[in-house]
Order: sequence, then structure tokens, then C-alpha cells
Amino acid sequence: MTKTLEAFLHEGLASLKEQGLYNTIDVLEAHNGPIIKINGRELINLASNNYLGFANRDELKAADQAATQKWGVGAGAVRPINGTLQIHQDLEAKIAEFKGTEAAIAFQSGFNCNMGAISAVMTKNDAILSDELNHASIIDGCRLSGAKIIRIKHQDMADLEEKAKAATESGLYEKVMYITDGVFSMDGDVANLPEAVKIAEKYQLITYVDDAHGSGVMGHGKGTVKHFGLQDKIDFQMGTLSKAIGVVGGYVAGTQELIDWLKVRGRPFLFSTSLTPGSVAACITALDLIMAHPEYVDQLWENADYFKAKLKAVGFKVAKSETPITPVILGDEQLTQKFSQALVANGVYAKPIVFPTVPLGTGRIRNMPSATHTKAMLDEAVTVYEKVGRELGII
Ligand code: PMP
Repeated sequence: MTKTLEAFLHEGLASLKEQGLYNTIDVLEAHNGPIIKINGRELINLASNNYLGFANRDELKAADQAATQKWGVGAGAVRPINGTLQIHQDLEAKIAEFKGTEAAIAFQSGFNCNMGAISAVMTKNDAILSDELNHASIIDGCRLSGAKIIRIKHQDMADLEEKAKAATESGLYEKVMYITDGVFSMDGDVANLPEAVKIAEKYQLITYVDDAHGSGVMGHGKGTVKHFGLQDKIDFQMGTLSKAIGVVGGYVAGTQELIDWLKVRGRPFLFSTSLTPGSVAACITALDLIMAHPEYVDQLWENADYFKAKLKAVGFKVAKSETPITPVILGDEQLTQKFSQALVANGVYAKPIVFPTVPLGTGRIRNMPSATHTKAMLDEAVTVYEKVGRELGII
């Protein structure tokens, strides 16, 4: 006999709960900003990807409302039927300008962008060299493509070179791609793109950088590829419109031919209704703001540097992050969970990250300071950290 759905769900849920892996979801009672409201309590929020505070910014809300009035709430169709409104074209032109490429394509999310873009180009005749800490959407996109997936030890350029050589010389593959996050979201480290590009040139690799956490943050806002001055060397500059940009959506920026191809082979683009006009208008406004006001990005870095230094000064072990992502390493998984609960009880909302998201024994609290936190909020958060750290015997 096969298993019933009821049995599968019942056993699965019970097993997750037993292992402490069943996460409940907190519901916000007001907008997602530097202070959030959960269960009637206001908490200092150190958990969002809303790096620049754009998710609730007046200029973006006004653009969203105006576009909704003009174009309606929905696009009405998938892009290639008649769901391409002028505003979608405008957004793609703006992304290309932002990234310094010939063209760009917008998808409905960063996740489905990776699923669609990787599988549009790579096939079962190909191989993909993928950093072992790449985001889930990259892993799923690689799997969907049917290509051979070759894991590269995290940020290990010798391993990349060895595997690139082996894959290209094997004669087994038509094309080989190297794919990496630009900024790794759990540690805040930055991909070694200059070295990766040298290896890619030597072995003729296709290069794909997912800069979800780098856009609006690195390179004065223009991203990790721009930070290293490698705009002409990376084939796929992928990013999201959901983190620093503050809205929703994903994109690839690249050559006109690459974008032409993705527009006929990117399956979420072809078969899922396009972004809402309001979201598109808000994204355009966000990109204009970042390009015109690098000081917003400077404020983000100033706040993050301030917060990191204060946490270190009171005795916490802060991961060697090169970006505003500020992970406080605690080690033990149970301790990490307990620490996070104590933070919330004391008015600070920051998320515990434990195995399997990160290796066993490296449990951490991931803090995401933003441009809109005041120094007083960050000071208060450090005071709470210090109190909880002492109570739990960490510092
Ligand atoms: N790539 C990376 C590296 C990410 O961190 C995320 C967001 N968690 C995504 C892709 C997916 O982006 P989105 O939330 O826009 O779907």
C-alpha cells in the first residue's frame, strides 16, 4: 500500500516539531521598518532585507499609487501575450542603466528569475560550477536545467580552477557556467569576482552573479560587479527588486542577445503574469533614488559599521562580514534559539540562523542594520545584546 497524504503530512509535521525544525511565523501588525510591531509590542527590527528603508518610503508609495491609477492593479496577461505595459519596458531600461549593460529582463521575483534564467541557457549537456553556499533559488535553477552540478568549496578559487579545468578538458560538456552569490547572505562575505573572472576567461566559463544582497549596497549601490569594475566580464548580472530596492521582482542585466534569449526561453517570463504596474513604478523610483543619492547607501554603511563596532566592543564574536550583514556567532544551536527569544523578550527582533542553513556548531543571530535605524535604536539594541549576553554567560 502507498502512504496516504494524511499520513505523510501528520508524520512529517510531527517529525519536524520533534527536531525543533518547525518554525512558526510572526505576523507584523504595521509596516516593515526599523521598528516593527508583533503581538502588540514594538521591537527594534534587525531582521529585514529592507536595507535602505525603501519598503515604506513615501516616493515609492506615491509612484505605486499613481501607476495603479493609470495602469490598473494587474498587468492582465503574461509578458509575451499582452502583459507587457510600457512601464515594464521602462523598468527594464532603468535596470540596464543602473547595471551598465545593453539590456535587462524583469521577472516576478528573484527566486523565479534564477529558476528561469539558469534553465533557459543551461541544459543536460552542460555543467555548472556552483559555490556550495549559493542561495536555494540558484540550487533549484541549476537542478531544473538538468546540467551536471559541480559544487565548489565556498570561495575556494583553487578548487574552482581545478574543477573548471577538469570539466572543460573532459570533453563531456557543451558549455560550463560558474555561478555565485555576489554577497553571501549568512556570513556577509563578498565573492572573489576578480579571481573568478580570471579563471572564467582562462577556461571560457559563462559567468553568473546573483547580487540579491549586493545591489543597493555594494559599489555605491550599483552592486558587487560594479564594485570590482567587472561589468563587461560577467555575463549574467542577476539581482532582486525585493531587498534594497524595497519592492518585489527579480532581473537579469546583460547583453541584448542574452536578454532576447531569456525573453523567449525564460519560462516564468513566458508563462506567469507580469509584475503589477504599481510595483514596477515603485522599482523605477527606487532605482532613480539610488542613482541620484549615493548618500542613502553611505548611511547604511555608516550604521552597519557603527553597530558592528559596538557589538565587538561589548565582547561579541561578529563574523568577518564585508557588508552590512552582521552575524553574531554563538555556536550551539539551542543557545542560538534561546538567545534570539531573549532578544525578543527584551525588545529586539533578530533571527537565529542554525543548521542546516549554516554548518552545525556555527549557530548565529543575523543582524541586518539599515539606513533608517537611528543611532539611538542601534545603541538600545547593543544594550539589550549586552544584557542577554551576560545573562546567558556569553560575554
Ligand atoms: N538570491 C539570493 C542570494 C537571495 O538572498 C534571495 C532572497 N532570499 C533570492 C535570490 C530570492 O529573491 P526574492 O526574494 O526576490 O525572490
